[in-house]
Amino acid sequence: MIDPAELLIEKTVLPVADPDADLPIDCDPPERISLAVRLAVLIVILVPLLGVAAAPFIVWGWGFRWTDLILLLSLYFLTALGITVGYHRLFVHRSFETNIVVKFVFAVLGSMAVQGPLLKWVATHRKHHQHSDKEGDPHSPHVESAGIFGVLRGAWHAHIGWMFDPDPPDLESYVQDLRRSRALLIENALFPVWVALGLLIPAVLGGLLTKTWSGVWTGLIWGGLVRVFLVHHVTWSVNSACHLWGLRPYRSNDESRNNAVFGVLAMGEGWHNTHHAFPTSARHGLKWWQIDISYWVIWILERTGLAWDVKLPSPQAELRMRRTS
Ligand SMILES: [Zn+2]
Ligand SMILES: [Zn+2]
Repeated sequence: MIDPAELLIEKTVLPVADPDADLPIDCDPPERISLAVRLAVLIVILVPLLGVAAAPFIVWGWGFRWTDLILLLSLYFLTALGITVGYHRLFVHRSFETNIVVKFVFAVLGSMAVQGPLLKWVATHRKHHQHSDKEGDPHSPHVESAGIFGVLRGAWHAHIGWMFDPDPPDLESYVQDLRRSRALLIENALFPVWVALGLLIPAVLGGLLTKTWSGVWTGLIWGGLVRVFLVHHVTWSVNSACHLWGLRPYRSNDESRNNAVFGVLAMGEGWHNTHHAFPTSARHGLKWWQIDISYWVIWILERTGLAWDVKLPSPQAELRMRRTS
């Protein structure tokens, strides 16, 4: 029997290896957004991030120590990779294959980022690609009403607001393939446990490394809460900022953009126009200078035999998808 999720993936992804296959042409782009509005959205996203970046300097020595910095950076790195390599490139787009142990580990790390259980995240994102920036896209900044307030409302909806929308009834049909794995169903059901673990680990390590009770609290705050905030903000910016701000070198039938700031901060996910043009590609930063830490991780996994069937676009497909005007 044919699985509807298989059909969906085949239908919504673009060929990465066959340059002669039909490619969608950007015939009906959404309404253009003014520079002032796009600047406003970028400032709204960047200023809180800069505020949080300034906080450690103010409380250095008593509210933030070396152990907190190490806990913050290492857990940011691991849980962001859980989202980008795990939730996104492995589970949503099947851009590479791996064994169930690696799958489970990435699913747990992704869950620790507190962006929702695996199956809901995957279903929402597959829907985003199917309806990108059109009616039915769960988090497009472009489907709200017109005018400056409409655009700002759209940006809010794309960044955070969509999380509070009720689940659409067809969400289940988007993840039939993942529902076949018992291990992934268990991982999905234990979502609150992984969230708690993501907060408990930095608290315990903070206490053990500093041998103080204050280390427990600062470990929880920086390695747990602040880290969750940063991963949220940066990965959600891919949905909002990267559909508003950046370059569009490829024809992708939507408003997705390549944004260098989030290319680095979001572990390579900010090369979002490239991603919408080649959704199944394991590599989003196709140029050597486009930093894509998630792909480096997949590359290491492949070299060590832990990943295989790593999908990349052929040079011909890359050329055909280039925007000429
Ligand atoms: Zn997108
Ligand atoms: Zn995607």
